[in-house]
Amino acid sequence: VIELGLPEHSVITTCAYCGVGCGFKAEMKGSQVVRMVPWKDGKANDGHSCVKGRFAWGYATHKDRITKPMIRAKITDPWREVSWDEAIAYAAGQFRRIQAEYGREAVGGITSSRCTNEETYLVQKLVRGAFGNNNVDTCARVCHSPTGYGLGQTYGTSAGTQTFKSVEKADVIMVIGANPTDGHPVFGSRMKKRLRQGARLIVIDPRSIDLVKSPHVRADFHLKLRPGTNVAVINALAHVVVTEGLEDAAFVAGRCDAQSYREWREFVARPENSPEAMAPVCGVPAETLRAAARLYATGSAGGGSGDAEGHGAGETGDGRRTPISGRPNAAIYYGLGVTEHAQGATMVMGIANLAMATGNVGREGVGVNPLRGQNNVQGSCDMGSFPHELPGYRHISDSTVRGEFEAAWGVRLDPEPGLRLPNMFDAAIAGSFKGLYCEGEDVVQSDPDTQHVAAALMAMECIVVQDLFLNETAKYAHVFLPGSSFLEKDGTFTNAERRISRVARVMPPLGGHADWEITVKLAQALGMQMDYRHPGEIMDEIAALTPTFRGVSFEKIERLGSVQWPCNGDTPEGGQETMHVDAFVRGKGRFIITKYVPTDEKVTQRFPLLLTTGRILSQYNVGAQTRRTANNVWHGEDRLEIHPHDAEDRGIEDGDWVGIESRAGQTVLRARITERMQPGVVYTTFHFPESGANVITTDSSDWATNCPEYKVTAVQVLPVAQP
Ligand code: SF4
Repeated sequence: VIELGLPEHSVITTCAYCGVGCGFKAEMKGSQVVRMVPWKDGKANDGHSCVKGRFAWGYATHKDRITKPMIRAKITDPWREVSWDEAIAYAAGQFRRIQAEYGREAVGGITSSRCTNEETYLVQKLVRGAFGNNNVDTCARVCHSPTGYGLGQTYGTSAGTQTFKSVEKADVIMVIGANPTDGHPVFGSRMKKRLRQGARLIVIDPRSIDLVKSPHVRADFHLKLRPGTNVAVINALAHVVVTEGLEDAAFVAGRCDAQSYREWREFVARPENSPEAMAPVCGVPAETLRAAARLYATGSAGGGSGDAEGHGAGETGDGRRTPISGRPNAAIYYGLGVTEHAQGATMVMGIANLAMATGNVGREGVGVNPLRGQNNVQGSCDMGSFPHELPGYRHISDSTVRGEFEAAWGVRLDPEPGLRLPNMFDAAIAGSFKGLYCEGEDVVQSDPDTQHVAAALMAMECIVVQDLFLNETAKYAHVFLPGSSFLEKDGTFTNAERRISRVARVMPPLGGHADWEITVKLAQALGMQMDYRHPGEIMDEIAALTPTFRGVSFEKIERLGSVQWPCNGDTPEGGQETMHVDAFVRGKGRFIITKYVPTDEKVTQRFPLLLTTGRILSQYNVGAQTRRTANNVWHGEDRLEIHPHDAEDRGIEDGDWVGIESRAGQTVLRARITERMQPGVVYTTFHFPESGANVITTDSSDWATNCPEYKVTAVQVLPVAQP
């Protein structure tokens, strides 16, 4: 402010970091951003923000930005700056050559949760219309795809059920595999406020996150489970609910599928799912599992099955807080600690089962709430960037739906689902996948088993990267197209509560073209008809083709500040806040049997520890933005957190360099000795490419969605000399 002077005008926009989607005023002097001020009317943030949204936007003008299109025939050649026309023509020519030589299925596209809804929509449209296949995927593949599958199967749609403000009505909050104070800070503060008012808290996490014990907040129960045993825990909780008569019988009878409920109830009631049977598996004492289940279902950690009206009974088990009278509002919030497992989709369904059985769906203060990591994960899924689904989660094999898109787009669509992201890599190594259009995603740094990803990219003949920087993936690219930061974008993001907000352009794209315009140019060069004057027209097309978006328009979003989908003639003008109020989207809620299956990633003498991963408040994912913002000075390296006992066994002192080896690879980090960890489990973040956290992560993945099992990797950790 001192250097640039006072702002002259401001533009309302949306933060481009996490799935909270805070509204901001970009305060400007001329065409320069002076500061970002949290927008007091932003419905996701009510005028609050975290350090990333407030301060970490300087990357938009960082000297590393690439602003000229570049091409090279081989990745060992130097880059050559070319005109936009030459770059687009070269990319289109290569894609067409590859398809002529290797077949229609030999190319595909990846979009990202960093992109707007409109940009993502166009990428999947290009792949389906111009490439003529369904080989399109998004980075949601590696984070919340199990949410899509699990909530789709049980409730009928993959969306989170609540608004963020719903937490203010929760009596019991269960946080599973999420760290809201670091990962979703503004929502984390909202949750803490409710906890300070007396809501009860259950944390299920292998690590002692801040919520477990921080000033003014303490969890009633911390289920410090062994990584990879989520499903054992959720089944044990469900076992207590059904065997102690804690279900909401009226809700189940009125709202849920009776046959699936009977089968599920019989399954979880089996002794093999009891807390006593599961305690040795997950490492959580049986009594803690029992007390946590009672607290979630009744608001009381003590025994008892509630009174005749189904109200919670007895005093609290620990006597620290006022008992809740009546059946509580119990809300579940979960993150990647649920989804990024071999049983990720199973666990999502286990959570959905538990919430239905206790009647905790369909009103304020309850629900099942996936905390989406990136700003537009929800939107990237909504926009059909999955190989099996068109926008609005409609299966590509549905001929009626396909017909609507074919008529609107003027193309024929392939009815067969395409390749998922990991399958594209496998196919590349097998020699059948040769060309990739990659918009806004650094797969080399963010996907697991880096060597495998790199080998796949090396095997391709044309990789087009559209991004801000020459990231790790661009090292394997043949064409680089300069993308735009959120300050240059014009479109919409959809946050974790299904809220669609405008991201408004505050400065022109440094490369000369918006990302959506680049995709249009590429589609046109490939011979596909695509023509828009403004991204608002893309949203109009989305709304016309997607029933849950039928009432969405830029005009309405700007007039109301934001809208939530579903937003159409059946909802209030601004969309629907709470999902599944009178009926589930699929009609009756469906219980699914969730058998616990141990992960293949076993500890052995050679790899005796389990590594799990996460992120911290001041950095963001692979750090492409936060590492390039000068005023982001709070944290400078990834570290390996290790329990004092494991450190002592290995002669490791705090701050020592340690080598970490897994079956996939090895890397070196500095150690942080902390009792946040449990013995036998270590933890790191993945914000810095030089740390190579994903060099060591396993290539195991979720059985239903191929979401990688980032959260469980068997490793050995030993001291090494400074590299
Ligand atoms: Fe809000 Fe998330 Fe941005 Fe922080 S990073 S300002 S919590 S949207």
